[in-house]
Amino acid sequence: MYPTLAQLREEYLTQGTLKGLPQQLFINGQWREPSAQKWLDSLDPCTGQAFARIPAGSAKDIDLAVNAAQAALPQWQALPAHQRGQVLARTADLLEQQQDLFATVEALEVGKPISEAIADIQSCLRTLRYYAGAADKVQGDSYPLGQQALSFSIMEAVGVTAHIVPWNFPLNTTLRGVAPALAVGCTAVVKPAENTSLTSLMLGPLFSKAGLPDGVYNVVSGLGVDTGAPLVAHRGINHVTFTGSVQTGRHVMRSAAQNISSLTLELGGKSPLVVLADADLEAAADGILSAIFYNAGQICSAGSRLIVERRVHAELLDIVLRKVKQLQIGHSLDNPSFGAISSAAQLDKIAAFVERARARGRQILCGGQRLQWQGQGWFYAPTIIDDVPADDELIQEEIFGPVLSVQIVDDLETAINAANCTQFALAAGIYTRDVQAALHFAQRTDAGQITVNDYWAGGMEVPFGGNRLSGFGREKGLEALRNYCRTKAITFKV
Ligand code: NAD
Repeated sequence: MYPTLAQLREEYLTQGTLKGLPQQLFINGQWREPSAQKWLDSLDPCTGQAFARIPAGSAKDIDLAVNAAQAALPQWQALPAHQRGQVLARTADLLEQQQDLFATVEALEVGKPISEAIADIQSCLRTLRYYAGAADKVQGDSYPLGQQALSFSIMEAVGVTAHIVPWNFPLNTTLRGVAPALAVGCTAVVKPAENTSLTSLMLGPLFSKAGLPDGVYNVVSGLGVDTGAPLVAHRGINHVTFTGSVQTGRHVMRSAAQNISSLTLELGGKSPLVVLADADLEAAADGILSAIFYNAGQICSAGSRLIVERRVHAELLDIVLRKVKQLQIGHSLDNPSFGAISSAAQLDKIAAFVERARARGRQILCGGQRLQWQGQGWFYAPTIIDDVPADDELIQEEIFGPVLSVQIVDDLETAINAANCTQFALAAGIYTRDVQAALHFAQRTDAGQITVNDYWAGGMEVPFGGNRLSGFGREKGLEALRNYCRTKAITFKV
């Protein structure tokens, strides 16, 4: 029997940690001490206190992990695809049995409410099961060269894949890349974010128990410069899936160029949420709150810009401000309605954006200050800043926190112009009862995903990714399988 949420909460409150958390790297199916014998503290953002230690890997560990992934490749690739799918499905079953533990650990690492962490682990189960079912549907094609030739293609696994992951949805983002990669026969080396590495390490033994051969899934935690950089630069890597900031994405792209590795880049966003005057304003207000304050705004596709038609601007903001008052901070394991900021550095970055806005005379409707829970922790109040011009840094830069900037427009055309006014193009949403307006917006707005009347609409089946500074390539859905395959055309002269 695995411990329940209540038992885990009790254990954490009395011990300040949890039993059995990993302290070693997961390489070639084994736990392994980091070569440099270094560890990093894992901090609880709700208290600022260390509750675990994670191993800090180095280039030597990356080398071991990539070598293991290369050695495991032929056997894993050679399996009938449905057997790879079965391993993913069994891993989902094992993860489901321990979902309370995984959710508790992620709530503690990220500072997010436990209900949000549970939803994240459930999404991981969905990801594993989706790609378990997809594994044996990846197939090639045939080509009509006439009777003189027989021509067809096979889909081969691209090889050893690197997965570099940020801290906001740790296991979810890991599996978004690893599950389709494994499904098609690739092997993987994961570099989780330094402050949220535990669950990707904890997944290692579950994969092994489910029957994954040693070396197919490896995890080397540590600092980006010590582990992420040598991973991307390693000559044994065939594809890099990077999720993180634009700045690091540029480094990754330059480094991957040395090996001509293929790349998926999931970068930042500054996504618009448009509310037209005919919208259901109560529903739109709920959508706005969830778009910017879920995970305390630390989501690449957060709806961080509200673009509202002038006729309903005052009425909509009244409703939104009323709802914001109900958001309460608290410790993640007490399931508050509003979570913490993942690190002190991120909190400083958010606060600095708002202080600069204040100095420029911007109108802060609510929030605009740091908060604490029982005199500790890293929290920032839900913040809304009104009537921000398009060239302001609040509109142009990703803040990655609970800060909503409002742009006021006169009609659909000016709303579309405002939606497209940044260099990012990840997600966009619109609330309206007018189907023509929604379709026009969807066609004219540059973004990887558009939602209508529900900001987070979509699921595992729907491709996800960005354009321009938000990156390129798509994850999720069947489309993600293509990142990890290459087509080989074979032609026989008859
Ligand atoms: P980050 O770029 O600082 O770090 C991301 C990962 O890269 C971490 O694991 C880090 O250790 C590693 N890293 C750092 N330096 C590296 C280097 N030189 N070489 C290789 N790896 C290196 O980003 P972050 O602050 O952890 O995450 C927030 C950012 O991630 C935001 O910009 C957000 O929009 C973006 N993000 C995008 C998506 C998406 O799907 N588009 C999803 C989540 C987060």
